Amino acid sequence: MPIGLIKRLFPSKEKAPEKPVAKKATAKNTADKNIKAKSNTNKPKPAAKKEAVKWDASKFTVAPQEGKTRFHDLNIDERIMHGIYDLGFEYASPIQAESLPITLAGHDIIGKAQTGTGKTAAFLITVMQKLLSTTPSERFASEPRALVVAPTRELAMQIAQDAKSLGKYTGLKVMTVLGGMDYEKQKVQLTNEVIDIVVATPGRLLDFLMQKVVFLDQVEMLVIDEADRMLDMGFIPDLKRIIRATPEKNLRQTQLFSATYPFDVIALSESWTHKPRQVEIEPESVATDTVDQKFYIIQETEKDKILAGILKSDQVGRAIIFANRRDTTRDLAARLNRMGLNAMLLSGEVAQNKRTATLERFKRLDNTILVATDVAGRGIHVDGVSHVFNYNLPDDPEDYVHRIGRTGRAGAEGTAITFVDEYEAYGLMDLEKYLGKKITTELPPQE
Ligand code: AMP
Repeated sequence: MPIGLIKRLFPSKEKAPEKPVAKKATAKNTADKNIKAKSNTNKPKPAAKKEAVKWDASKFTVAPQEGKTRFHDLNIDERIMHGIYDLGFEYASPIQAESLPITLAGHDIIGKAQTGTGKTAAFLITVMQKLLSTTPSERFASEPRALVVAPTRELAMQIAQDAKSLGKYTGLKVMTVLGGMDYEKQKVQLTNEVIDIVVATPGRLLDFLMQKVVFLDQVEMLVIDEADRMLDMGFIPDLKRIIRATPEKNLRQTQLFSATYPFDVIALSESWTHKPRQVEIEPESVATDTVDQKFYIIQETEKDKILAGILKSDQVGRAIIFANRRDTTRDLAARLNRMGLNAMLLSGEVAQNKRTATLERFKRLDNTILVATDVAGRGIHVDGVSHVFNYNLPDDPEDYVHRIGRTGRAGAEGTAITFVDEYEAYGLMDLEKYLGKKITTELPPQE
């Protein structure tokens, strides 16, 4: 990343400021930026400031350990270290240990990692470190310095929450821009306050961009999280327009994360990043201890009947059924409903607010059935899922591991049943190779 260039654009003091970067919030006096200035709302809270003075980094001791990276080894601003200390993190997670040295040095990154790896803190620490290290000569309302785009409201809210915790002592102001809620409130806040980090879902952000409620030409740090889900959910056209409104890729630092890299995501990642470094974190290991894995050899035409039979049995509580394609999930959910089973659909073609409601229902009720695609299903972190069904053997063995990881969580027992039909049997070899063990198939139980 051309740090020099950023420094030219935003002349910095040698030392990071004690206070946050905010100057008085004033509207830019340009014809198209017709924003009314209001008072500065970006002062750190007195309590936080007092704490920041009181806190002593020597309190935060973590013993060096072979093969592990400590946050202490990464030269992170003390105000961020204080947040890390409060969160109770000691050693950097693998994605943090791999990516932070790269991103803190100013490079763009393309990361292959999923939720649960600590990737949120990885990109947020870099964003905050950079924002604290330079002081723009002027700040205005409506102009964030950092933008994080995430596909779903839940994820965006989680990221913003993490940013507030990590950045508790930095004075950096975080705001969410989310579809389906608080339209006027978000608009007023963006228009009147100096915001440092905006965490947004694409639709609402684009809406505000078109209305000139927000301007992205001062974005120094851009994060695109879960790029594959954005693709699955049809957000790429919106995202392209959003990214076009940010500075050129060599004038911003871009961090892009995705759990999988289908062809379209590879192409987009390359066009949105500048000389990126790549990091990849191995998927979570197979939870073989707590998941009983069964592979039923079955004819395609029999899948529905056998699935319905098992679902109606007593042992099944909360169940997720994965299929490989959106249309398969849609049709399957409809057929199960016709068979008297109350199945809900979770895929990229379901509207965001409906998906949130579906997940809520799934969490609340003990006997619920969810039919999901891989990408939509990855965001499901619900304890107490008794069964995962693979209506199709996944094309990618990695997806198999993600799918069965939805059950057997938090030490509970879970069952994963995979249907393997005459067309899918050849895929078992790839899966065996990936899992590093022999798969035993069986016929489904008679009853
Ligand atoms: P994420 O993958 O970003 O959703 O993070 C998964 C969880 O790991 C979150 O609850 C984080 O608070 C937690 N976490 C992130 N980094 C660390 C770390 N270095 N040590 C311990 N927990 C962490």
